[in-house]
Amino acid sequence: MSYVDEVLELVSKKNASEPEFLQAVNEVLNSLRPVIEANEEKFRKEALLERICEPERQIKFRVPWVDDKGQVQVNTGYRVQFNSAIGPYKGGIRLHPSVNIGIIKFLGFEQIFKNSLTGLPIGGGKGGSDFDPKGKSDREVMAFCQSFMTELCKYIGADTDVPAGDIGTGAREIGYMFGQYKRIRGLYEGVLTGKGLSYGGSLARTEATGFGLVYFTDEMLKCNGKSIAGKTIAVSGAGNVATYAIKKAQELGANVVTCSDSTGWIYDPEGIDVELLKEVKEVKRARLTEYAAARPSAVYHDKKAEGTNQWSVKVDIALPCATQNELNLDDAKTLVANGVFAVAEGANMPTTLEATKYFQENGVLFAPGKASNAGGVATSALEMSQNSERLSWTFEEVDSKLKNIMINIFHNADAAAKKYGVEGDYVAGANIAGFEKVVDAMMAQGIV
Ligand code: NDP
Repeated sequence: MSYVDEVLELVSKKNASEPEFLQAVNEVLNSLRPVIEANEEKFRKEALLERICEPERQIKFRVPWVDDKGQVQVNTGYRVQFNSAIGPYKGGIRLHPSVNIGIIKFLGFEQIFKNSLTGLPIGGGKGGSDFDPKGKSDREVMAFCQSFMTELCKYIGADTDVPAGDIGTGAREIGYMFGQYKRIRGLYEGVLTGKGLSYGGSLARTEATGFGLVYFTDEMLKCNGKSIAGKTIAVSGAGNVATYAIKKAQELGANVVTCSDSTGWIYDPEGIDVELLKEVKEVKRARLTEYAAARPSAVYHDKKAEGTNQWSVKVDIALPCATQNELNLDDAKTLVANGVFAVAEGANMPTTLEATKYFQENGVLFAPGKASNAGGVATSALEMSQNSERLSWTFEEVDSKLKNIMINIFHNADAAAKKYGVEGDYVAGANIAGFEKVVDAMMAQGIV
């Protein structure tokens, strides 16, 4: 049996109840076969893959807080510190009822390679809780965030582990968590990224993941003789990543005709109105029905009632920006039948393995999230640099660094794919490019 198969079998046995983690490990290890087979004996002796698939540390803790009725609520908090070979752990905090250890491990595992790909010195980690900020008052969210940080602050720090936002964790939650960290630890340091501008945040961090996704997509298209200008795009999601992906795609001349949230989706042939979307989702924290009510050209579709989603619309490019496994094989078949020629992931693992394979077999340019959505963490690392220097760079400075990083990520993934004979397979290319640097550092640091 090959070393990859041995490790896949072992990891499946050890983590049988964590399907998302196993999906991520399968995708990564399978695409690394050419590199691993070239070094099989050395890697096996060093148990390199077993070490890479086992988090350095995982922390699970109780998060008690009091709701507005005086009732005590209890959530579970997690932080998985997956790999620190190339720098302090770095990765977001997800607040969503679906969070469990398997979800956090899949995200932390992906983060190792993504962070390495950015070329910046950051290791991989991820955290979160099954707390749902939706429908909670500001006071309840603050109570939760303070309790969460009261425990988490023992394990993080500007040079050890630097969390950031993710689903359900935006500027408000980061603010409450930062305040509590500072109060308990007595340290004013860059322990979290995605902070507000008045207390150490970086300009362009809010926009970074969405903008970066579009910079990456644009470069991928250019290198394949195409461009974003004049194209029709379907986006899923209506949160941070989706909003700024829509904005940048429009700036580059595309027409973005869809967005979605967990209950429904919008078709707006005149193009999504980003300011209205922000007003509905960021300010009012309301449903997309309110977007349709305020915009005559938009039609709202209820996902459950109609059994449809935004992938049924005829588009040239699809940008899934909501959550994992939101684009399946049936969706991929519909998109391909409708003539889609590029898919770039804004979310983490939004495309199932079968759908990814289908796109690649049908000649669709496919950008994996760990490359195409790395702009968020890259700009977080730029925020860390500014915090260390006690300086703030201009929006243009950060945005131009972000653009260069995204272009470099594309070319690194492209070059790695070519080097190992899988030209145009950016999934393999991104995994290989991210893996090589981490492996080099792990080998140099001995058995730790
Ligand atoms: P937000 O919380 O801002 O937005 C998430 C969006 O996805 C919302 O529209 C939400 O709908 C929808 N959504 C969430 N869960 C589900 C679900 N189970 N089914 C359907 N829709 C869902 O999160 P972000 O925009 O920050 O993150 C989106 C994705 O991008 C995630 O996969 C995240 O890991 C990834 N990512 C984020 C980065 C960042 O910098 N923020 C960096 C890199 C990756 P609703 O409003 O109804 O909740």
